[in-house]
Amino acid sequence: MRIIKHDEYLSQLTFMPRLFPVNCYLVEEEEEGLTLVDAALPYSAAGIMQAVKDSGKPLARIVLTHAHDDHVGALDKLKASFPEAEVYISERDALLLAGDRSLQPGEPQMPIRGGVPKSVKSRADHLVREGDSIGSLLVIAAPGHTPGSISLLDKRTGSLLVGDAFHTRGGLTVTGHLRLRFPFPALATWNKEAALASAVRLAEHRPTLLAAGHGEMLKDPAGKMQAAIAAARRWLERE
Ligand SMILES: [Zn+2]
Repeated sequence: MRIIKHDEYLSQLTFMPRLFPVNCYLVEEEEEGLTLVDAALPYSAAGIMQAVKDSGKPLARIVLTHAHDDHVGALDKLKASFPEAEVYISERDALLLAGDRSLQPGEPQMPIRGGVPKSVKSRADHLVREGDSIGSLLVIAAPGHTPGSISLLDKRTGSLLVGDAFHTRGGLTVTGHLRLRFPFPALATWNKEAALASAVRLAEHRPTLLAAGHGEMLKDPAGKMQAAIAAARRWLERE
């Protein structure tokens, strides 16, 4: 596991940085301890636990940007070690977390893609939606990759934790835009049009840092976000 501390509040934890990088993040609150954003892979639990221990602060919360396998893998083990940590996910992706891939009435009837957990036992303590605050993090709905994907904006710093709404591995890319350099997020994306609309909304928040589920953190991302949105739009129009 590799750890990169971005600033006093945000650290990125990366598993398999060379092959298939999977990130999760620790966000420090002044008083309430740590928030873990995403729970990586099952074997990631030991590394995450060590990072929490090294911080000297308690793990208060686990927030899931969406319920794909590589974002919830260590959840059960972490809950067993930190039973006081409360789990947050969107209402919509709580169904996916429970292994239910069925589409809801009114949703575009296209199959939910990607690895959806089959045996995760933990359930959310809090179902969140656009505009909710989780400590210093503002919840922004970012449907597309999954129907209930969320992103999280740290109101103190402008750091934006996008989940898989964008990835930076292979160059900043809107999820759903299939690029051979790193095709996996696109192949796991439910609704490309919704993903593009979410990317546009995320850019409007003018983040100072983009922190994605896959790839390196990106400082001052505005220009690259606009370029990635334009590239995804051109690609979708050709599809
Ligand atoms: Zn995903």
